[in-house]
Order: sequence, then structure tokens, then C-alpha cells
Amino acid sequence: MGPSARGKRVENVLDSLPEPLWSEDFAVLLGFKKSALGPRKDVSQGDELVRKTMLELYFDRNSKEHEIQQDLIWSRFCALYLPALVDRFLDPWTATDGSYIEKDASAREDYQLFNPWLRMLVMVQHNPYLGKYLRSRKPVSSGNQHLTRVLGQRLSHVAARWDREIRKPASDHQEYYKGAAADVVQLLSTLLTTFVSSRDSDKILPANTRKKLLPFLSGWRDLFYDPTMARGDEQVSLGDVCFRTVIQLSSERDKRPQVHQYILKVKKHLKGWDQCGLPTCAATGDMKACGRCHTVKYCGSDHQTLHWKWLSGPHKEMCFMTEF
Ligand SMILES: [Zn+2]
Ligand SMILES: [Zn+2]
Repeated sequence: MGPSARGKRVENVLDSLPEPLWSEDFAVLLGFKKSALGPRKDVSQGDELVRKTMLELYFDRNSKEHEIQQDLIWSRFCALYLPALVDRFLDPWTATDGSYIEKDASAREDYQLFNPWLRMLVMVQHNPYLGKYLRSRKPVSSGNQHLTRVLGQRLSHVAARWDREIRKPASDHQEYYKGAAADVVQLLSTLLTTFVSSRDSDKILPANTRKKLLPFLSGWRDLFYDPTMARGDEQVSLGDVCFRTVIQLSSERDKRPQVHQYILKVKKHLKGWDQCGLPTCAATGDMKACGRCHTVKYCGSDHQTLHWKWLSGPHKEMCFMTEF
């Protein structure tokens, strides 16, 4: 398929997309299920550039939805497809289609790390179901590989080359690699946060991988971290994520309270344990988890009942029993 046919195909699919997008649309696009609307909607293996482009368009369209709608989509997507998503990232597609990904060794290596499945993992990284999945003791991931370890190892493979691209002045690829590195390091940081106080953090990310990654991450931090810059949560800067991740990787006790607070916040949020699940209640401390989904806690059964049918984001729409 030539580039113009690809463009036409993307256009066709977008034209016929239902609004708003739903979790199943993402599952079809990522190849986890067949479209019930006919094969025209399925992106076959090999059309990875189409998949990549369409995923960005889906994200763009979805970002215009209300926050609650987005929460519903990601929660349902994670509850249903998280094991499949992690598996697909761990065993990514190998190009045999004569595309640039097959022909170019660097592109092939990049694709192992920076692919649509990683983009999706980054998108759902703060969803409580991901936290639940990571804490799960059931062997739900492909061949018992550990996501954090694989992510760290793949990054350490490409880090030197990405570093050259990022530092090359006036390089066409600089922005691309900066964005890719920001995505990968941010996900790595979130995954590490889940285990931040765990004694087996070395098993999660072996010491030699940490050692290989640290010089690159500190280099990118020194290049791009600007503490005076105002930052929103949405803005992912390579400098920011490297600043945090260097602290996590070097396990030096950090004296800057904002870093410690950030790590604590993400950790609690990933567990869904920040505070009582009822949006208007600020209770913390001793709470009981929802027995069905285990992604949210309540100060008491009255707030659990209220939240179940809460008008702006009823929990019953996000509550799923999962195999993990
Ligand atoms: Zn409460
Ligand atoms: Zn629940």
C-alpha cells in the first residue's frame, strides 16, 4: 500500500468512527479483537504505520471528551485488555512486510520500544487498574517477563543512539526522539513508583540496567530540566521525567520534598487508595476497598452506595471484576 492509499484508508476509517470513541474502538485498533462492523475497520499486522497514525488521531479525538468519559473508557479498556496490552508490548510484532521497519535495523530496534502498545500503556499509566495489575501475583504476563525489566532493558539498548539523535543540533529527528524518550522514561518512572519501597526493587529492574541507564537519564535531565518552568500535569517534558527517574534509579534519599510528595501521590493513586472514592469526601486512613474491583476505597458503606450511582461518574460503570 502506497502512502496515498494509507492516507485514504485512515480517512475512511475516521469518517465512519462512532462518536464518542469507546474502549472497544481502541481494542480493535490495537488488534485485540475483530471489528463487529466488518473487516474494513481492522488494521492488519504489517500496517503498523496506519495503526500508529490512527492511534494518535484516536487519542486526539478522545482528549476532547469529558474527563469522566475518558475515565470510563480507560477503566473499561484496562479491565478487559490490560493483560493483552502488556503481552503485545512484551512480544511485539516483527516486521516481515518489506517496510522500513524491516529494512532498517535502527527502526526495527526502535519499534520494539516505541510502538502503539507503548503509547497506549503511557495513556493508561495512571489508571488504578494498571496498579492492580502490577501488584497482581497471578502470572498473567507473557512468559512471566516483567514489564518494568523489559522496558528498562530495551531503553538501555537504544539509549546511546537516541542520545546522539537528541544532542545532534538541527537534527530532523531530535523532537521525535525527545518525545519517544519522554514517553518511555515516564512509563518507567510510574512502574518504578509502584515498587518504590519494595525490597525486591532490584529484581524489578536489575542493578546493571540501572547502571546503564543512569548516565543517559542524568544527561537528559541536565539538558532539559528547568525548575523555574511552570508545569501542568499533562505537559510531559523529558527533563522533568528524567529528574524524577534519576532519583528513583539511584535510590538516593531525596531531600526535595516535592519529589517525595509526587512519588507518594502517584503511588497512592495507582493503588486507588488516595482517599475515599466519593469525590466530595476527603477522608483518608482506615478504609475498605470495593470488594468487586479492588481499585477504590471508601470511608464507609454509605459513601460506597452514594458513589455507585454518583451522577458525574457512577462507580458502577467503572467497576469490573478482573482475572488479575
Ligand atoms: Zn467518604
Ligand atoms: Zn468497584
